[in-house]
Amino acid sequence: MLYKKLAELYEELDSTSKRLEKTEILSKFFRYLPESDRETLYLLLGNIYPEYSKKKIGISNQLTIKAISKATGINDKEIVKEWKSIGDLGKVGELLTKHKKQSTLASHVLTTQKVLENLRKLPELEGKGTVDKKLSLIVELFTSASPIEAKYLIRTLIGDLRIGIQESTIKEAMASAFFDKDKEAAKELEYAIDKANDLAEVFDIAKKGKLKDLDKISLEVGKPIKVMLAQKVKTIEEGFNALGKPCAIEYKYDGFRLLIHKKGNEVILFTRRLENVTKQFPEVVDYVKKYVEGNSFILDSEAVGFDEKTKIYKPFQSISQRIRRKYDIEKLQKELPVEVNVFDIIYYNSKSLIDEPFEKRNALIKKIVHNQKYKIISAKQIITDSKEKAEDFYKRALKDNQEGIMMKSLKALYKPGRRVGYMLKMKPEERDLDLVIVGAEYGTGKRSGWLSSFILACRDSKTGKFLEIGKMGTGIKEKEEEGMSFHELTEKVKPLIIEEKGKTVKIKPRIVLSITYQEIQKSPNYSSGFALRFPRFTSLRPDRSPNDISTLEEIKKDFSSQKRNYKYG
Ligand code: AMP
Repeated sequence: MLYKKLAELYEELDSTSKRLEKTEILSKFFRYLPESDRETLYLLLGNIYPEYSKKKIGISNQLTIKAISKATGINDKEIVKEWKSIGDLGKVGELLTKHKKQSTLASHVLTTQKVLENLRKLPELEGKGTVDKKLSLIVELFTSASPIEAKYLIRTLIGDLRIGIQESTIKEAMASAFFDKDKEAAKELEYAIDKANDLAEVFDIAKKGKLKDLDKISLEVGKPIKVMLAQKVKTIEEGFNALGKPCAIEYKYDGFRLLIHKKGNEVILFTRRLENVTKQFPEVVDYVKKYVEGNSFILDSEAVGFDEKTKIYKPFQSISQRIRRKYDIEKLQKELPVEVNVFDIIYYNSKSLIDEPFEKRNALIKKIVHNQKYKIISAKQIITDSKEKAEDFYKRALKDNQEGIMMKSLKALYKPGRRVGYMLKMKPEERDLDLVIVGAEYGTGKRSGWLSSFILACRDSKTGKFLEIGKMGTGIKEKEEEGMSFHELTEKVKPLIIEEKGKTVKIKPRIVLSITYQEIQKSPNYSSGFALRFPRFTSLRPDRSPNDISTLEEIKKDFSSQKRNYKYG
């Protein structure tokens, strides 16, 4: 397909902010898109591979500027100046290409295949001369690009498409394109996408119009799936009412979610962001091989840190560095050991278990996981219909340094990617949120040159937009002993700057933080309509994606329950 067609689609999508119109535009496009061009769907979300793939474009603003400069003959400084005044590097590229194209006409016609081919070479390059090779792959695309093609190539490279399309919009558009707005079909499609994590694969089947064939998408060992998510409850009673009695109650471990895939002698570990972290946890690979029975399986678990000497469980933030660290693995493994707590199994010996009830899956875990304390165990659990027993268990979990409890229906199936009410979480009255950094301000005095206050956003799950909810400054300095200072956070955030105006910068929404706060207020100053009072940094959440953060709905709920609490003390 011509890249020009895709660029025109981006423009059309960008021209409206109405979700319904965007869905219509996309749905029309899907009807036109031939199956052989299905991989164009990755580009629609700014990717080059399915969501689960590790391979990302990973090009910095600086390199993009260099490539624009090479392709247009305009020097870097001039481009940066334009960027500062326009605020969108894509538009800068469009403008400069327009000027240039008056003298030299594009030599080739760009296709989406060619764009994918070149972009896919970028993450493969390593070693000497990498930068030059990357540069020439990008310049090759730019020299063939028309102005609007250049605009979207640039935005794709820097990971900021700005067309307001989420995976959910694509799901809806596919349903309406091929199943005539059928609600059931939309649900089936959504489910298939959550299972496959590959829009192109689902598109292929959907285009043929055979809903039944979606069942053929099956789980595969080695291919990550989205995990089932939990809903919140405030009391044990509320949990029993929602799930029925008896139900399973487990510790809610304060660690990070780990999906364990095994086939033959190979073990692969994924986070809930679908990132492969096998290399970071060699000891877990070992535990799985030694202490879990079965030829092939996919386990769902929570890895939790503990103190090597005292054996006391530690909070997530004290072990979070293990997820990202690529060097000194052995040292870190000794210093920050983890225990894997298996709480679900979704595939076993070549058979998917997602349509089996939890009680059956649970029994299988007990059978195949040979508990080894401080290595790998099945999650601490009781099955009860007694409120008193449940409350005792909850208190025990808190005493054991865990976050609270999970309550699970014995009859429920496993729903990948869904926040269904099959699994409920209960924690002490909380005032904490996961938010993403979308902006920052440079400090003054001692902190000048450092970004000192960070603008945080929640997510509107209906539109997928990030909405600002407050500014956070304090809390980070106190965490310095744990390796997080203003200086370090500045270093993390700087490559993600997409716009600068005076002291304020706009940041690509990538970095997720856990924060605590004292109160939520209504506020016209932030796009969410709310402001947090005294937000304080607690930890970085490298295991969470920006799509996983606290939603506006949750914040609204917290806001109203907070009022209720105040009233009733
Ligand atoms: P939250 O992140 O607050 O929405 O709570 C859900 C998370 O709790 C899951 O994604 C898991 O990472 C974690 N978790 C800890 N213990 C368990 C457990 N026993 N069962 C399910 N999830 C658990």
